[in-house]
Amino acid sequence: MHAIYVRVSTEEQALSGYSLDDQLSACRNRLFAMGLHDIQAYIDDGYSGEFIERPALDRLRSDLSAGLIHSITFYDPDRMSRNLTVQLVLADEFEKAGANLYFVTGDYDASPEGRLFFSMKGAVSAYEKAKVRERTSRGRRAKAKMGKIVLNAHPFGYNWNAENSMYMINEREAAIIRRIYDMYLNHGMGARTIAIELAGLGVTGRNNRPLSLSTVSRVLSKEMYCGQHYLYKQRVKKVSQTKREIVHNPPELWIPIQIPAIVSRETWLAAQDQLQKNKKFAKRNSKREYLLRGLLHCSLCGRSMTAYGRPSMRKNSPDKIYHYYSCITKESGSYAISGERCNCRRIPVDELDEAVWQCLLDIASGRRSLDEYLIKNITPDYSAEIEVLNKKQTVLRQKRADITRWYRDNLIDAETAEKELQTVQKELAAVISSLAGFQSSQEKIKKPAISPAEVLNAKSFEEKRNLLLKFPYQIHTVRLAEDFEFCFKD
Ligand SMILES: [Zn+2]
Repeated sequence: MHAIYVRVSTEEQALSGYSLDDQLSACRNRLFAMGLHDIQAYIDDGYSGEFIERPALDRLRSDLSAGLIHSITFYDPDRMSRNLTVQLVLADEFEKAGANLYFVTGDYDASPEGRLFFSMKGAVSAYEKAKVRERTSRGRRAKAKMGKIVLNAHPFGYNWNAENSMYMINEREAAIIRRIYDMYLNHGMGARTIAIELAGLGVTGRNNRPLSLSTVSRVLSKEMYCGQHYLYKQRVKKVSQTKREIVHNPPELWIPIQIPAIVSRETWLAAQDQLQKNKKFAKRNSKREYLLRGLLHCSLCGRSMTAYGRPSMRKNSPDKIYHYYSCITKESGSYAISGERCNCRRIPVDELDEAVWQCLLDIASGRRSLDEYLIKNITPDYSAEIEVLNKKQTVLRQKRADITRWYRDNLIDAETAEKELQTVQKELAAVISSLAGFQSSQEKIKKPAISPAEVLNAKSFEEKRNLLLKFPYQIHTVRLAEDFEFCFKD
């Protein structure tokens, strides 16, 4: 049912244009225009708009709360009430009951009063929402203070028990977590190595995927795994209409809560100690640069190599950091799990950097030839063609000399000599030109794009690195036993 509400005060009854009949027919026409016919009129004749209590309005509101009304039409907002607050209260009530609100005066939305009305309406509903939110969050905090988990964050290692709002240990995942702590504390592995090792062993987390580095890091750092959890460590803050960001709460706002422990507190504390140490290593270490980073390929499998540093695993020199180049198949969980890890061992960065640079110096100074290191793949060899053309050139030059001699000795006349010489000269020019082409291709094979002088003059890391970036060959390397070897490839 669609409601029309009309009202006139006693003073207005005298004025034209506001008569009940005028209002009624204008409202009806508005509804008819929208194709709505099930209409019920509510008429307050001789009531002021100042107050909310009016007989017809009261009936309208009770029909509304009974769910009988789908829309309410007024001639203008003044018919609803003369008072903005009352207008807002009523508009809010209509909206909550799911009824549409229509005004006949079409330009009302755009008028100053209309704009004020709708912006106030927006403010009122925002206030309402904030109040609801505040009530829920107060409810949540109360729940948290009773030692209950408020929101299930699906942490690795736990299942959710909805009945008593608490995490329960997932034994399969808990076994992996204990193993991670064991690898970290007793076998000197870093989070990254652990992720790779576990993937290599076929251990999977959720969704049958290998554990990511960030999962392993979280397992090692979260206090919840020794049974101490905190709620309200952070909250979501709305920073603009669409953007939200996570804000860390000060510790006095945290709510401590006990959950089932997967490792002992001592174990967790030992891990935090080690994490702290590793962080220091990482900081001190971030300046380390690798001469061949991004330029190396594994000779065994052809894939690229990565470079990284990690602390020593030896107990007596825990402060030392070792840097390695390593075949990507050994460092990425996805290769490990597909069984594609190759047998190339990690190569110490210092040694390979030094060896490759020394090799370039030897080539630049002429002590060694690039050919010793270069493996030619596809570059064609034109030496046979060059040899044929060289012979042909010799023959033609000989012929030219012969013609000259024959003419001098009067064996041929001038006309014949000239003709013969022209032919020979043409052929010779063709041979010389194609020979030059073959020779320059052959030359390119042997000539690196960096000049020997540049190599010999490069002293700083930057200079060396820039030259290597221009080096026209791939550097392939492999280490199977103690020693590594390397070569250049087209
Ligand atoms: Zn490899």
